[in-house]
Amino acid sequence: MDPDTLKSLSDHVRAVDARVAQRSPFGNNPPLVCSICHEKFTEYGNNAQPVNDGRCCDACNSSIVVPIRLKRMYAAELERE
Ligand SMILES: [Zn+2]
Repeated sequence: MDPDTLKSLSDHVRAVDARVAQRSPFGNNPPLVCSICHEKFTEYGNNAQPVNDGRCCDACNSSIVVPIRLKRMYAAELERE
């Protein structure tokens, strides 16, 4: 890779990093609202699938989303046998 390509690539990576940092909860974005308990949360959040299509707080993720995912995985495994 020639130095010019390398430089434009690293410039691009830095620009993307800056955009991601702006979008993070530690930037000046308002807190997100959990799609399960409807409480505001400031952490990055979690995919609420298969509960719904939104994002959810860490508490809902560990107490609701993950157990449902595990149950589904376990059920799918039993069906395969
Ligand atoms: Zn929640």
